[in-house]
Amino acid sequence: MENESVKCLIIGSGPAGYTAAIYAARANLSPVLYEGLEPGGQLTTTTHIENYPGHPNGITGVQLMEDMKAQAVKYGADVRYGIVTAADLTKKPFHITVDGRHTIEAETVIVATGATAKYLGLESEQHYKGMGVSACATCDGFLYKGKNVAVVGGGDTACEEASYLAGICNKVYMVVRKDYLRASKAMQHRVMTTPNIEILFGHNTVQVLGNEAGVNGVLLSNSEGAEKVIDVDGFFLAIGHHPNTELFKGQLELDDAGYIVTRPGTPLTNIEGVFAAGDVQDPHYRQAITAAGSGCKAALEAEHYLMTRDE
Ligand code: NDP
Repeated sequence: MENESVKCLIIGSGPAGYTAAIYAARANLSPVLYEGLEPGGQLTTTTHIENYPGHPNGITGVQLMEDMKAQAVKYGADVRYGIVTAADLTKKPFHITVDGRHTIEAETVIVATGATAKYLGLESEQHYKGMGVSACATCDGFLYKGKNVAVVGGGDTACEEASYLAGICNKVYMVVRKDYLRASKAMQHRVMTTPNIEILFGHNTVQVLGNEAGVNGVLLSNSEGAEKVIDVDGFFLAIGHHPNTELFKGQLELDDAGYIVTRPGTPLTNIEGVFAAGDVQDPHYRQAITAAGSGCKAALEAEHYLMTRDE
């Protein structure tokens, strides 16, 4: 297939990617956006979002992302289904390969590939993935209506997932390895005052138990080494995320955890013409609104780069 040339290529379809697309389209950069493996990004796996400004009654993650996409398309962004499989940022224009076969020459690239849920790394956890083990309560919670489930983690995500599941399930165990929750005070209060959530502090998962029908329990150990089994049908991971930066290793500067390093307060990477926005460069705030803000900055910087380069 003949190579295609674009002024602005956006990789990723979360709030960062779509916001970048809205701004780039309105600046006449005719952006092309590849949605990636998970169109809409992580927000499509969350429940009701109550802290995105402009939505006093809240909005679902899926709806928010559909709205952002529609807004980007309305202003001329070319949003495509496809996965970027290689990126050569060593020469200009940059060479981006999609689905292993279509190469695009891009004058600017906005990386908004986000982050992906972490797993504990247990063999049993892998074995029961999709058979009771999940990293997305909102995707799979309805399967456990009236049943008992466990959520691993003590951060905001774990508390949100536990609260959501508590509304569907009979009982929710939170398995927290420390003796405190890392989550915000508001979320801590919510899980501690929900009657059908039991927090098991100081516990680690030893093994996910089950049979051919799926998960039926979890073997836990506490800090003294004492083991116990909880009877659950669902096992939800909520222990954080890792950034989706494998494509850029050795080209873009990454920190120790693999996040793209940007010049503080900007989306500028170590390569001129390549910008990073959203969770892929933000191990700290990781909010939809901060991701959207950084997507806006990335598009403005891409526009500025193209303009000043041509002067
Ligand atoms: P966090 O990194 O904040 O929390 C991860 C949790 O998982 C911690 O309790 C951690 O334990 C635990 N954990 C990590 N690895 C393991 C392991 N191997 N075994 C057992 N437990 C483990 O991740 P979150 O996804 O919760 O949150 C990420 C960011 O997003 C945070 O800044 C959070 O505030 C934000 N967020 C905000 C929301 C909102 O505002 N509505 C909603 C969701 C997230 P330990 O404490 O011991 O390290």
